[in-house]
Amino acid sequence: MDQSIFEIVIVGGGIAGLAAAAGLRGPGRSITILEQSSQHREIGAAISLQQNASKILANWGLSDILRRYKGSRDQGFRVYNAQGEKVREIPLSRGTPDADRVVYHRVDLLDALKEAALSPGRQGPPAKLRLASRAVSCDCAAGSVTLEDGTVITGDLVIAADGIHSNLRKYVTGADVEAAPTGISAYRIVAPVETLNKDPDIAKVFDPAETWTSMVMGFDRRVIMGPCREGSLFSVVALVPDEHMHETSSSKSWTTQGSLEHLSESFNVFAPWVNKIFKAAPSLGLWQLRDLDPLSTWIKGRVILIGDAAHAMLPTMGQGASQSIEDAEALQAFFDDVSQKPTADQVEERLRETFMCRYERASLIQAYSRQQAQPATTRNGQSLTLDPVQFQDYSCKYEGAKAWTASRAVC
Ligand SMILES: Cc1cc2nc3c(=O)[nH]c(=O)nc-3n(C[C@H](O)[C@H](O)[C@H](O)COP(=O)(O)OP(=O)(O)OC[C@H]3O[C@@H](n4cnc5c(N)ncnc54)[C@H](O)[C@@H]3O)c2cc1C
Repeated sequence: MDQSIFEIVIVGGGIAGLAAAAGLRGPGRSITILEQSSQHREIGAAISLQQNASKILANWGLSDILRRYKGSRDQGFRVYNAQGEKVREIPLSRGTPDADRVVYHRVDLLDALKEAALSPGRQGPPAKLRLASRAVSCDCAAGSVTLEDGTVITGDLVIAADGIHSNLRKYVTGADVEAAPTGISAYRIVAPVETLNKDPDIAKVFDPAETWTSMVMGFDRRVIMGPCREGSLFSVVALVPDEHMHETSSSKSWTTQGSLEHLSESFNVFAPWVNKIFKAAPSLGLWQLRDLDPLSTWIKGRVILIGDAAHAMLPTMGQGASQSIEDAEALQAFFDDVSQKPTADQVEERLRETFMCRYERASLIQAYSRQQAQPATTRNGQSLTLDPVQFQDYSCKYEGAKAWTASRAVC
């Protein structure tokens, strides 16, 4: 083994882990991703990357790869009241084509990031993905991770990207912090656009293939939807307070099935065309939404938490994945000068810089996401108090970790 190689171990092959691998690839580095699942597939739903994340991936030279995975460039938001009448249209200001808000199928985004991390032809050796490798503990000072089968894997830097139910979080923070239920559950649906197009009641309201995000806002529940995979699929997320759900149970996993009957009951005061969209779904998922309060720290010794493991947030601003990509970019920026095996002090110093850059911003976006989950209209449904582009500038006009750190130093 070459003793001068910078060994990076990433726990978790989700959006955060793969983005970190894609960003950190470079000469003199070896990256191993430890992923617990043996299949490594995402669930069937859409995910939006906001401008802040799209810009990072474009700056990394990933536009060609991403284009092959068929994202839909979003034109903006159309806001409807519960009666189904359009009350606002908010076009997004367009940046360069690769740095817009783009909606992907989650499977496609994961595959694109996997290609960026694992394929030859980009800088540095490809990262290695080890499936069926569940991490159960870590030693932060030694930079070692122990797998379920007892194997110990050691790196100069360990990135814990093991998601909302992180196993490694407690080794970093010193406390067993669990993501807590937020009181909201999300139904998720993906339906073929051609099925929706056949329904005249839906077609009267909008063309589901058009790349707009539509939001139907009730007092305490809402539906957020739009096309992905270049307009061939239509994705819907319907948020309902747990206390008003008609389901007998909800779960912390993506895999729970919801019931169409109960979903329709929850939205029976919404316009009939909204319920018709629900009925077009071949299947229905249900997820109890959880989030974290800001943690006391994300770093200890050679280990850093990123993504949902560090700052799980509600999906109301669509920033969870985008913040994960910002974490990855910060690591790339602060470790930019390290092309040989670093000392423990060098790693700790750069992790401190990464954490200082990211913590306040991600914590604020966590808080905004909670605030945006508050009732969106007055009780009689008359006026909309929620502005979907509120805070858009703060979250989306981000130019990377080093520029952010420099701008904070000036303030
Ligand atoms: C309804 C809903 C809609 C959303 N919509 C959006 C959106 O439009 N835009 C957006 O930006 N965000 C959105 N999000 C949030 C987004 O999905 C998450 O923030 C993002 O996926 C976090 O990525 P991650 O890699 O940190 O975690 P994950 O995607 O959960 O990945 C973690 C990975 O680690 C693996 N793993 C876990 N434990 C271990 C272990 N012990 N050992 C090894 N591997 C392990 C898992 O198998 C998984 O592959 C949404 C969330 C919800 C609930």
